[in-house]
Amino acid sequence: MPDLEMSCMQCKDVFLYTEKEQGIFYQRNMMPPQRCPKCRSKKAAASANAPARFDIVCDHCGKHDHVPFQPKVGRSVLCKDCHQANKSRVRFA
Ligand SMILES: [Zn+2]
Ligand SMILES: [Zn+2]
Repeated sequence: MPDLEMSCMQCKDVFLYTEKEQGIFYQRNMMPPQRCPKCRSKKAAASANAPARFDIVCDHCGKHDHVPFQPKVGRSVLCKDCHQANKSRVRFA
């Protein structure tokens, strides 16, 4: 099969669905790609980043926890419980 020109369903760019890829997709019994390689890698990166977890040690109680953001170096990090307690303490002060 020759290379096929496909149009990306996301950015409408035309991309090449190469003979080689067609073989791979066919072997794996997969649907032809609907997004260009750029959008595909963006999507993969997005889903890889979504469940990101950073290990932290709570500055207040020493408990190990995970946070969904990269803690800043030199800044104190709090576990979920202490963070909640800290927030409500500020609010009701
Ligand atoms: Zn695209
Ligand atoms: Zn804590």
